[in-house]
Amino acid sequence: MVGGGVAGLIAARELGRKGLRVLVLEARDRLGGRVWTDHRLGRDLEIGGTWLHWVQPHAWAEVTRYGLEVTRGPRPEEAYWLAGDEVRRGTLDEFMELIDPGMRRLLAETMRWIPRPDRPLSEPGLASVDGFTVQDRLDALDLPVEEYRANEAAWVGHFNAPLQDGAFASALRWTAATAGSWHLMHEASAVFRLAAGTRSLVEAIVADTHADIRTGTEVRRIEHDPDGAVVTTVAGSRITAQRVVLTLPQNLLGDLDISPSLCPEKRAASEEKTASRGVKVWIRVRGPITPFFAYSSAAHPLSVVRTEFLGTDDAVLVSFGADSRRISPHDLNAVSEALRVWRDDLEVLEVTGHDWMADPHSRETWLMQRPHQLTRYLEAQQQPEGVLHFASSDTANLWAGFIDGAIESGHRAARDITTGLTT
Ligand SMILES: Cc1cc2nc3c(=O)[nH]c(=O)nc-3n(C[C@H](O)[C@H](O)[C@H](O)COP(=O)(O)OP(=O)(O)OC[C@H]3O[C@@H](n4cnc5c(N)ncnc54)[C@H](O)[C@@H]3O)c2cc1C
Repeated sequence: MVGGGVAGLIAARELGRKGLRVLVLEARDRLGGRVWTDHRLGRDLEIGGTWLHWVQPHAWAEVTRYGLEVTRGPRPEEAYWLAGDEVRRGTLDEFMELIDPGMRRLLAETMRWIPRPDRPLSEPGLASVDGFTVQDRLDALDLPVEEYRANEAAWVGHFNAPLQDGAFASALRWTAATAGSWHLMHEASAVFRLAAGTRSLVEAIVADTHADIRTGTEVRRIEHDPDGAVVTTVAGSRITAQRVVLTLPQNLLGDLDISPSLCPEKRAASEEKTASRGVKVWIRVRGPITPFFAYSSAAHPLSVVRTEFLGTDDAVLVSFGADSRRISPHDLNAVSEALRVWRDDLEVLEVTGHDWMADPHSRETWLMQRPHQLTRYLEAQQQPEGVLHFASSDTANLWAGFIDGAIESGHRAARDITTGLTT
């Protein structure tokens, strides 16, 4: 197993359950990959993946399996958004009503193009809309400026990418996974989290596997033929294996030295990169405050912010922006300035986050495909090549880019291997 993120750990668990000997090689000195609960700003914060939901079947099966408790942040009592240069203040319901017409029109044909989100390529005509970005389709709606900005900001929250880079098909996939309901899609992607953190999920899977797990072990090269593979680590160890599961994010897979090389589609997807290049920032402010959320626009360094933890004399906010090059999660002054778009009454005490784009073991946040990547590459990205198998949330069918997708892909790889070895 190359990689000890959720996809790799699930595949390791499932292969072990079939009696196979599994070795997990993880480059970082911790497990979990793009999920990472870390104690900062006085709380256990999710630096990466956070929210999950009962409409995400693979993630929820793990919640049930391990009896994990689920919680949510405080309900927002105030909402802020922009109308031109003016800040509007209202309620969550008023904001949802504002974006509803745009959301409905944008997503009206969701089930036509993705009638089976578990088989996202089942509609052959999908290629005819896969060339659009979400920005193209938003612009075509010709919305009044207040609605337009509010819709834009909501999509930045979902896409974590410049909207002119993110495929419209990704918006369709997310919404198809909630049977066409944008409200449910919104809830599924950003409300409920594990009470003891994603760390509790990672620890539960690890405790449930017999695999030999080695952290701090980066893989550099893989040579393979029909009989097996030799995996070489950066430190120079050579390990032989009957099968290898590669769980690297799309943006990294092409950097591995693999011989014979991967198919052109896998390499092209990795070279083109995903659209996601956003930033997630945790912000501690002086309290007490009333829990709120706020949306600006795609043009602002932070497009979305909301209260996630409420204390008596402080509160911790979580915020997202489309482009990590425009704001650092460690720059207190820049974050304070970005918040002043909505409010100048908040005193920022501390900020934190992680630059996932600069991280050599991820180079992306959560999957957001570029135009054409779904219809050109997904099928080939999922395909085994000889003794090499592939698992990643980036190549899942149903909730690609989510924790759920990582679990789905781990199951798929494990099933393919056990089926192949026993038939
Ligand atoms: C900021 C952020 C917010 C997110 N929010 C959410 C959310 O709210 N809800 C949700 O469902 N999802 C969210 N996600 C997405 C979710 O976290 C990921 O889709 C999922 O965790 C990916 O799991 P994975 O196992 O496919 O990949 P990864 O977690 O990336 O695992 C790949 C592993 O391979 C390792 N690796 C890389 N190169 C090598 C090498 N050469 N040798 C050995 N090991 C290597 C990496 O260190 C990593 O551990 C978020 C992600 C980020 C970054």
